[in-house]
Amino acid sequence: MTAGPAAGNKIRKLEYLLADAIARGAGTVITCGGFQSNHCRATAILARQLGMKPVLLLRTASQPAPAPVLGNAFLDWMVGAEIRPIRPEQYRDRMALMAALSGERERAGERVYVIPEGGSNGLGALGYVDAMREVREQLDAAKGALPDRFDAIVHACGSGGTAAGVALGCALFEVAEEVISMAVCDDRSYFEGAIDAIVRDAGVLLEAPTRHAGLRVVDAYKGPAYAVASPAQRAFILEVARCCGLVLDPVYTGKALFGLARLARKPTCVLFLHTGGLPGLLAQARDFGS
Ligand SMILES: *Cc1c(COP(=O)(O)O)cnc(C)c1O
Repeated sequence: MTAGPAAGNKIRKLEYLLADAIARGAGTVITCGGFQSNHCRATAILARQLGMKPVLLLRTASQPAPAPVLGNAFLDWMVGAEIRPIRPEQYRDRMALMAALSGERERAGERVYVIPEGGSNGLGALGYVDAMREVREQLDAAKGALPDRFDAIVHACGSGGTAAGVALGCALFEVAEEVISMAVCDDRSYFEGAIDAIVRDAGVLLEAPTRHAGLRVVDAYKGPAYAVASPAQRAFILEVARCCGLVLDPVYTGKALFGLARLARKPTCVLFLHTGGLPGLLAQARDFGS
């Protein structure tokens, strides 16, 4: 598989999920997300690379659905994903909708694999346990040129799978004391429950006790709405790009680093996870003005 256009944090979860799809003989992969979902785009591209047909349930309030001419939606269209627009109120029942569609296709003779929103389940989270093992190996190889461990790992949190894998891997490989998950939607109590459930499922698969690093969900920096950045957040994203060439996106990474910069109890030695999101930035280029 090539990472290029499928890059971002979802590729780590999909490494496990699509391997499972192949093992089960699936020819069709169904998943869901926002209209500009990075997860859906990565799934669609990788499914095609592996010879499977992608079907995407994309949440949109617009009627009719926007044309897939920008960012992630353009890439979905480019690889010929079947795009099914879903209204926000229907999207709440996304698991049932995907199960119904899967049943329909299976009755028509297809083998279907359903991936939950964001690829966030126990199996997908194992991709981020691996990421923490890789960080451990890099710290060890640096022999003192890098810290032995971090005070905290900071990342953007949208469906909880990354947080769950990072929290497990952090404890397992002693990478950091604390994981700070910057919510970009929902709120702290929602994510505490969701992440906990994914940690438990991943722990079963790991056949390890579900010890995890201290988890702090911060929901104060999610901005006006999911996928909508405030003028201050957009100004911050531009400032960071112009100061050091670090390109962040207005849906995830930009809000997470914006939050870290403003955090009251700031850890000193931090590893910030850049989780991707470039197509989402390009889809919003006009909002940045000049
Ligand atoms: C999906 C996504 C996240 C959040 O990861 P979850 O595991 O869904 O919480 C962060 N950053 C980017 C760019 C993403 O696409």
